[in-house]
Amino acid sequence: MLYHSTQDKSQSVSSAQAIAQGISKDGGLFVPESFPKLSLNDLDTMLTKTYQQRAKMIISKYLTDFSEREISDCVDNAYTVEKFGDINPAPIAPVTYNGDELNLLELWHGPTCAFKDMALQILPHFLTKSLQKVGGGKDAVILVATSGDTGKAALEGFRDVPHTKIIVFYPVNGVSAMQKHQMNTQEGENVYVCAINGNFDDAQTAVKKIFTDPATSEILADHNMMFSSANSINWGRLLPQIVYYISAYCDMVNLGKVKLGEKINITVPTGNFGNILAGYYAYEMGLPVNKFICASNSNNVLTDFINTGVYDKNRDFYTTVSPSMDILVSSNLERLLYTMSGDNDAETKGYMDALKAEGKYEVSDSIKEKISAMFYGGYADEDATEKTIHDLYEQQHYLCDTHTAVAVAVCDEYIKKTGDKTPVVIASTASPYKFSKAVLSAIDTDKLPESEFDMVERLNELTDAPVPAPLASLRGKTARFSDVTDKEDMQSVVLGALGISK
Ligand SMILES: *Cc1c(COP(=O)(O)O)cnc(C)c1O
Repeated sequence: MLYHSTQDKSQSVSSAQAIAQGISKDGGLFVPESFPKLSLNDLDTMLTKTYQQRAKMIISKYLTDFSEREISDCVDNAYTVEKFGDINPAPIAPVTYNGDELNLLELWHGPTCAFKDMALQILPHFLTKSLQKVGGGKDAVILVATSGDTGKAALEGFRDVPHTKIIVFYPVNGVSAMQKHQMNTQEGENVYVCAINGNFDDAQTAVKKIFTDPATSEILADHNMMFSSANSINWGRLLPQIVYYISAYCDMVNLGKVKLGEKINITVPTGNFGNILAGYYAYEMGLPVNKFICASNSNNVLTDFINTGVYDKNRDFYTTVSPSMDILVSSNLERLLYTMSGDNDAETKGYMDALKAEGKYEVSDSIKEKISAMFYGGYADEDATEKTIHDLYEQQHYLCDTHTAVAVAVCDEYIKKTGDKTPVVIASTASPYKFSKAVLSAIDTDKLPESEFDMVERLNELTDAPVPAPLASLRGKTARFSDVTDKEDMQSVVLGALGISK
């Protein structure tokens, strides 16, 4: 299996190279040259397997330059009972909401309580092995731009991993208090965290620029280092996410909710388009899916895109209660466009160039048609998000986080509007305790306690929902990091953190 760049097909690399490098030299994203197919027979075989066994079967179809032993090591070290609390790291919780059954795929039982752990617990293992194959003895410098959850999950995944250093930038006013505290208290000798004056898109654009700047790469090479990425532009992030959609389908069959071969709908609260794209890739492999329901918050650039074929980021940016979706440039959409254009690199590059130059592009009629056949786009504003947390709790005593609430709201709207009763799986992406303030105010009208951890406590007293141990243990921990920088200075901050002076 080789990987091509979405913007220049002649760039062709092994999976180890794609993972080590993160992004292609031309600025495009790596995509597999084809999607390995899963037959119903394959799915049938997976029904009786564990999550870990399913993961090995799927991952080995893509990482063909890894030995079976290497893939086994990666999977077994990532998805442990110790880290995820159960042999199945991604259980399904069925709830009935406004009269319809929704199956919440809880992806947040890992060490940092967001779905990012599903990928970032295994990525360091992929990367270490990739570097052994193609790294030429260099240390990897992981640069991360985060809207909150990726940063912490990447820090935790890479902490003290030999031959890696990790630097995380987050928008100073764009993450929840718990997210900030999680990052600023991060332990490990190879980690550095810095806030930026700007929003997530500013951080992501600057990181991409540093990343693809040949001069900076040269400076790093002189010090025996190379950049890599833990953002969802890295193929090693997307691949583990394909696994849980396929595994969830098997679990749905085992729970008696669908018959093998019957279609499901999949709803995903979407920001950078990584999570939902992984679901779409599972569909390309043969997973029986009817529709993908793409749920946005007030930053509804994707809703408009799915409905009109015009992607236009020239609009107001809102800071919402679901900060991990406060994104106007959804990087992974580029990969969908590439696939839907029939692997047309020139066409994809055209869209991305227009996005860079004008902040806007319109896709071809053929892509529009393909998108409306498979995707439904909707959004939930702040009031709808809050109401959904409240109503779901009232109806089922189930506490969901703000991002999951956006997905539940849009999925409910879709079912009511279309009457489509296809069994639905909703990606539940974070623990409610990561966003205690918003969740608490949605279910309780009393005055909020002052401190973040008092809110956690109050939420726990009210609902009896257990507080995840990794969050509870942060109480009283002192911050190690407090730097704030302007986006223009990020490059020198990076070199400074690496101990390199220009
Ligand atoms: C990252 C994140 C999202 C958005 O996922 P994308 O892959 O960026 O679309 C949604 N919810 C939570 C809790 C997240 O951390």
